[in-house]
Amino acid sequence: MTIAIVGAGLGGLALARVLHVNGIDAVVYEREASREARGQGGMLDIHSGQQALREAGLIDRFHEIARGEGQDMKLLEPDGTLLLQEDTPDDAPLDRPEVDRADLRDLLLDSLPEHTVRWGHAYESAEDGVVRFTDGRSAAYDLLVGADGANSRVRALLTDARPAHLGHNVVEVGIPDIDRTHPDLAAMVGRGNYWVLGDGKSLAAQRNGDGRVRIGLGFYNTAEDWFETSGIPFDDPAAARARLIELLSGWDPRFIALIEACDDLVVPRPITALPLGLTWEPAPDVTLLGDAAHLMPPVGEGANMALLDGARLGLALAAHPDDIPTAVKEYEREMFERTGAAARMSARIQELLTAPDAARKMLAFFQPD
Ligand SMILES: Cc1cc2nc3c(=O)[nH]c(=O)nc-3n(C[C@H](O)[C@H](O)[C@H](O)COP(=O)(O)OP(=O)(O)OC[C@H]3O[C@@H](n4cnc5c(N)ncnc54)[C@H](O)[C@@H]3O)c2cc1C
Repeated sequence: MTIAIVGAGLGGLALARVLHVNGIDAVVYEREASREARGQGGMLDIHSGQQALREAGLIDRFHEIARGEGQDMKLLEPDGTLLLQEDTPDDAPLDRPEVDRADLRDLLLDSLPEHTVRWGHAYESAEDGVVRFTDGRSAAYDLLVGADGANSRVRALLTDARPAHLGHNVVEVGIPDIDRTHPDLAAMVGRGNYWVLGDGKSLAAQRNGDGRVRIGLGFYNTAEDWFETSGIPFDDPAAARARLIELLSGWDPRFIALIEACDDLVVPRPITALPLGLTWEPAPDVTLLGDAAHLMPPVGEGANMALLDGARLGLALAAHPDDIPTAVKEYEREMFERTGAAARMSARIQELLTAPDAARKMLAFFQPD
């Protein structure tokens, strides 16, 4: 069987790897020109996705690149009140370690035979067992897997659903080499996640493997065109930081100091999601996985679900090597149920984050007693 996977993200690569360990070849078509073509973003919290890495025979190598101390967590309110601090003991199990997204992608890429990933292939369309790329090239397939992320183009073969704006906009900023440049702020943020929630806003700071602290400033109940109306001049980083500080007026001076220490990278990120519980009629020769299938609010499930989707589809195909439609049906049944539950939980957390007292609501959610 000829399996064409569109997208060399975590889900597409997990699928290719699980197929490979089960003796099935696949080709991954990726629009980026090379693995280094684009920054891969920050840290991922990997929990249920570890099952997929186990199926892929990569769990030991994952543990070598995972950062257990990244599980540390501080939860605060805008006035500076510390509600929760969790420090990870050295011998704690790696239940939810953080991993650098680029390291995890490299782990998967390096586990595949050479030439499995065809770089510089941007999907354009597919019909009658032939996939076409934007530069005019084409390839035959028996099964086409859309693993092409949030703005999937393959998705249109199965459903008209599109991601919708969640009334949530994030501005990403960051502090490079924080231990050297701002040791006081480094100590404040700590080794893992540092969350300030409330007033319909959030500040999520996280230490990355390279010593950078990435900070996402979230603004809830804001419209799709908020970046145009917010008064944040994205082309003038110093003025953008000044405006962000204004938008956090009344917040504890320590949080303001974090923004003042940021460098000139200021990136707007509108937050969108697919409809909850999205399904489609099974097709015999095409399916979706990862964000292409179930883009959900970014509260720590997406990468885990993408990895699991890839592994589960790989196992279903290995179990039915001569019957792709049955393998796809089996995979989709399990995937819809599992990811539907994760999306409902993510939507609930997203709702809590919009509350004026979001930090206390989050605390009650995670520690119900
Ligand atoms: C700031 C942030 C933090 C996050 N943190 C976490 C976390 O801690 N834990 C967690 O579980 N999840 C997290 N997520 C979600 C997670 O990153 C995604 O859910 C996950 O990466 C989805 O994997 P994927 O393989 O479906 O898609 P992607 O990783 O997006 O990969 C899609 C691939 O398809 C390629 N592609 C796109 N279009 C085409 C085309 N036309 N032709 C060919 N190739 C194409 C892209 O270049 C890309 O390589 C976070 C997301 C964000 C934005």
